[in-house]
Order: sequence, then structure tokens, then C-alpha cells
Amino acid sequence: MPHRPYIVGNWKMNGTRAMLAEARAIDRAAGRYPDVQVAIAPPFTLIGALREAVSAMGVGGQDCHVNAKGAHTGDVSAQMLVDTGADFVIVGHSERRKDHGEGDDLIKAKAEAALAAGLGIIVCVGETLEERDGGKAEAVVSAQVTASMPDADAAADAVASGKVAVAYEPVWAIGTGRVAEVADVVAMHAQIRQQLLALYGEIGAKVRILYGGSVNAGNARDLLAAEGVGGALVGGASLTAEAFLPIVAAAD
Ligand code: PEP
Repeated sequence: MPHRPYIVGNWKMNGTRAMLAEARAIDRAAGRYPDVQVAIAPPFTLIGALREAVSAMGVGGQDCHVNAKGAHTGDVSAQMLVDTGADFVIVGHSERRKDHGEGDDLIKAKAEAALAAGLGIIVCVGETLEERDGGKAEAVVSAQVTASMPDADAAADAVASGKVAVAYEPVWAIGTGRVAEVADVVAMHAQIRQQLLALYGEIGAKVRILYGGSVNAGNARDLLAAEGVGGALVGGASLTAEAFLPIVAAAD
């Protein structure tokens, strides 16, 4: 497996300062699992506070704008994320693709802007249930990887230093309690790996491919032990230390 397993919590639009206690508890435990890279992506409003509250784990954003600054009301740039203490950013989450109409070209531009600002990136891909049932999952994910991953010239250094990750998140498995079959996860991760090798050459082996979609304490061990799974992107089960830490432990 390239680099340490990477377990990332995506808090989505959840969390006020009252949740800093959970982050501190997760951070204390993360310090006890040095072989696992642990991170949380809280809402923008909590990034600075989380950065100050934790020491062992990474802190990231859930989105960024392609531009560094300007007339983009409500948006936040990659440079601003760096300034407030983020190490990485998630781009292309299916909720951004759906709720904000984000397409692959925009996601790729965001990924490249984030890398240029010095952030690590997690680029999300994944098919809908209709696409899977229609036998199109592989083609859909392949097209997303091709069109939304940053170009080799923009990404080579970050890829080589392990700062680039892909999250395979079947849309139908996010927040639904439905988890993909391990065999399907293995097959999709292998396909993505081949694409990364074609795109970046041999350093493409250093990109961690995470699984995301209803990961919890009960299924994490099987998913994380599966061939080619380099970690997990976790939504609902990352909101409390009690739910998140067994997933971190399963990666150890
Ligand atoms: C996610 O938000 O990326 C996610 C996988 O959510 P959940 O774990 O709640 O399915």
C-alpha cells in the first residue's frame, strides 16, 4: 500500500465550536496510531479553530474556488484555506457535483488550484445507482477520473510526495447505510489505479485510493483490508470520536 492508510472524516455542513471536543478526542487517539494518517475536513468556519485544537491529525477544507481571490461572494480560495491552517481539500464530492452542478472540468481546475497553493487533494468520483444498475459504473468512474484529475505537469510533485488521493464513493452508498460489495470496490480501485499509472507514470502508484460510502465500525475492517483500498472517506461516522475511532483502529 503506498504511504500510510488515510482515514479522513468529512463533517459536511455539521459542527459548531461545541464539536471541538470531539476533534480533540479524535486527535488524542490519532496520536496513538502513528501508522495511520488521520484527518478531518470540518466546515470552513471551524478550520482555524480545529487547527489550533489538534496536533496529530490533518485538517482540510471540503471545497475551494479556482481563483485565489476576487468577486466570488460566499466562496473560499485554496490560498485562504492554507492561511487558516488547512493541509488539504476535498474536491468533486458528489454533494458538490449534485447540489452545485459541479462538473469534471471545474473539479480539475479546483484540484490544480489547490495543488498550486500547496494543499493536498482528495478528488471524489463515483457512480449513481442508476448508472450502476445500468452497467455503466466502470465507464462513468473512468470518465470522471480522466476528466477531473489534475494534469501530470500540475500534479507530479504532489503525487510523488503522497499529497494526492482519489476517493471512490458510489453515490448510492453515501449516507444511506448501503455499502458497496468488497469485490466491486476492489475491481473499481484496480481500474482507477490503472488510470493513475497511465496518467502519472510509475509515481501514480503513490496516489492513495480511498473508499467512501457508509463506512462504519462494523464494516471498516473488511473494506480497509481489501486489495487496493488505501483508506476511507467517512461522513456520518466521523462526527463523534466514539464512531470514528474504531475506523481509525481498523486501519492500523
Ligand atoms: C461522504 O460524505 O463522503 C461519505 C462517504 O458519507 P457517509 O460515510 O455518511 O456515507
